[in-house]
Amino acid sequence: MGQQHGEESGGEEYLFKIVLIGDSAVGKSNLLSRFARNEFDSNSKATIGVEFQTQVVEIDGKEIKAQIWDTAGQERFRAVTSAYYRGAVGVLIVYDITRRTSFDSVKRWLDELTMARMLVGNKCDLENIRDVSVEEGKDLAEEESLFFMETSALDSTNVQTAFEVVIREIYNNLSKKIL
Ligand code: GDP
Ligand code: MG
Repeated sequence: MGQQHGEESGGEEYLFKIVLIGDSAVGKSNLLSRFARNEFDSNSKATIGVEFQTQVVEIDGKEIKAQIWDTAGQERFRAVTSAYYRGAVGVLIVYDITRRTSFDSVKRWLDELTMARMLVGNKCDLENIRDVSVEEGKDLAEEESLFFMETSALDSTNVQTAFEVVIREIYNNLSKKIL
């Protein structure tokens, strides 16, 4: 199989490594399980085990394999290691709209990340206990040149779209480089 965009007889194949970052318990693992398996786990504890999941997305008639990496709970104990970011071409920075401290952490997570970047305000189903407004999310995204979307892994709002916007952006950048 091709690496980033190796060619095979049937046409091009794309494999994009995308990483999830953000404070513990913002919903990273549930966004991934919603995106890759259409599952939500209301009792999920700290993420253990699963390193990444692969989901095929079609963009402009091209099959793209998105290899989405989860932190495996590392965010609890120490900064995510550089090995986690190695080869990544996109990142979703997730915060919890009901927990301001997780929004304040976004800038720390952003440091030195240059790949395609999506800011995700998760748990938008919890409107009644919202702690970060949509405008604040938008403003930060504009300031830092990020894509922005509010999501809910619980009721599936925008989960597919959030991942696909990043994948499309990576694909578009790649196409520009090739042409
Ligand atoms: P992670 O530590 O960032 O991987 O977060 P998890 O995916 O383990 O989720 C942490 C907690 O938030 C779990 O109890 C989830 O059930 C809950 N959770 C995750 N996403 C959502 C969401 O969109 N809405 C609501 N209401 N709860 C969520
Ligand atoms: Mg997790």
